[in-house]
Amino acid sequence: MANLTGTRRAAIYCRISQDRGGAGLGVARQEEDCRALCARLGWDVIAVHTDNDVSAYSGATRPEWTELLGAVRRGEIDAIAVWHVDRMTRSPRELEDVIDLADRHGVELATVSGEIDLATPTGRMVARMLGAAARHEAEHKAERQKRQRRQAAEAGRIAGGGKRPFGYEDDRMTVRSSEAEVIREGVRRVLANESLASICRDWQTRGILSPAGKPWKPSGLRRLLASARISGRREHTPRGSWESTRPLLGEIVADGVWPGIISHEDSDRVRRILSDPARRQRVEGTTKRSYLLSGILRCGKPKENGESCGWPMSGRPRSGVPRYVCPNVPGTDACAGTATNAERTDEHVRDMVLAALESPAFMERLRGQDDAGSELYEEIREDEEELEALARDMGERRITRKEWMVARQSIEERLNLNRAKLSKVSRAAVLSGFVGTFEDMQERWKQMNNSQRRAIVTACVRSVEVSPANPRKRWDPDRFVFDWVA
Ligand SMILES: [Zn+2]
Repeated sequence: MANLTGTRRAAIYCRISQDRGGAGLGVARQEEDCRALCARLGWDVIAVHTDNDVSAYSGATRPEWTELLGAVRRGEIDAIAVWHVDRMTRSPRELEDVIDLADRHGVELATVSGEIDLATPTGRMVARMLGAAARHEAEHKAERQKRQRRQAAEAGRIAGGGKRPFGYEDDRMTVRSSEAEVIREGVRRVLANESLASICRDWQTRGILSPAGKPWKPSGLRRLLASARISGRREHTPRGSWESTRPLLGEIVADGVWPGIISHEDSDRVRRILSDPARRQRVEGTTKRSYLLSGILRCGKPKENGESCGWPMSGRPRSGVPRYVCPNVPGTDACAGTATNAERTDEHVRDMVLAALESPAFMERLRGQDDAGSELYEEIREDEEELEALARDMGERRITRKEWMVARQSIEERLNLNRAKLSKVSRAAVLSGFVGTFEDMQERWKQMNNSQRRAIVTACVRSVEVSPANPRKRWDPDRFVFDWVA
């Protein structure tokens, strides 16, 4: 039905929603495309209706849509332009209403993604199919959202119902400076390779509590420090992520409107470190390490073939005196032939490491190795992007789940290998804020716990071989052979 000039009076309908690639298709873009479409069809745009409706499927009311239908019934418009059928309706019943209206009032419908003629049976079938596909997608989305809400609720319970994120006030915008300082400290310590359990223990003794007033646990601290929120960025769990629990890392989709507490760079590095599966096992496996050098010391007793035993030494006290020993473990090659006093060994290794760190030449060589790390960063970033792209392909059904798993496997293997390498070469972070004069470092060493000290030691040496004691000498530093990393 045309007006007197013969031009169709068209209404553009836009809907804000969270679907289509996660970020939603902007309303400005929807309107722009629809206006271009109307111009092409020679339609006269007399109204633009926009509903802010995050999900049509949830049955939320859409006042502008209702308004538009009213205008159709009153005969004020005779054409509707939408970006896609799923902008207009997602329920079959609503679609039937539209088809019915189109029938009775001769309304034409045009979509940017392809015109649909509701006046013909074929056009209606296409519309119904598109509607069904959209509904299928919406149902899946509803399922995901339900799961997410449940997880949010569970997290909320752990947080004691308090919604305030650590580091921010109740408005989620204002930085709480005392907590921001704690977050920055936590990030520094993770970058220095300290374990989450160790940081939690320290915070516990200092009385630092979560917003729920509870002591920090490694799992909670991990989520806090890996969250994009603390760098002022918004994170979105990507579609096509099929894990049963919320993945640690979502996709960073936008800058947040709130201020960041740490830099984007630090956030990216911490996220990489905390998502390293090797690290995760370490965190869950060993929570306490009272012996600084267990596993770093290697038994140096020669075997029959002349090679040294090489077994990692572990802490084993005798008569209350802490020692490192080549363990006597039946069924292994450990020779059980070497032991050394733990306290004196710790001191000796500490002094050797601090002396090395005081040497400009040694630091120069370490820095050279960190340059190799930046190439690894690049490779890791590329692999991570490829994984995301694959997940998207599968989310949008461009590849099958099987194809996805096959393609994913080789990338993940390479990724884990590179992450492991990176954790070995990324020493600048471990040592920043520590290196200084010998006396400075000795002072800082005193303030550190064993996990922090261990990070310093392993940033400098791969291992230390310990020869069996000479019974005639009380303490012999020559028994220790250092395998320096640089
Ligand atoms: Zn041995």
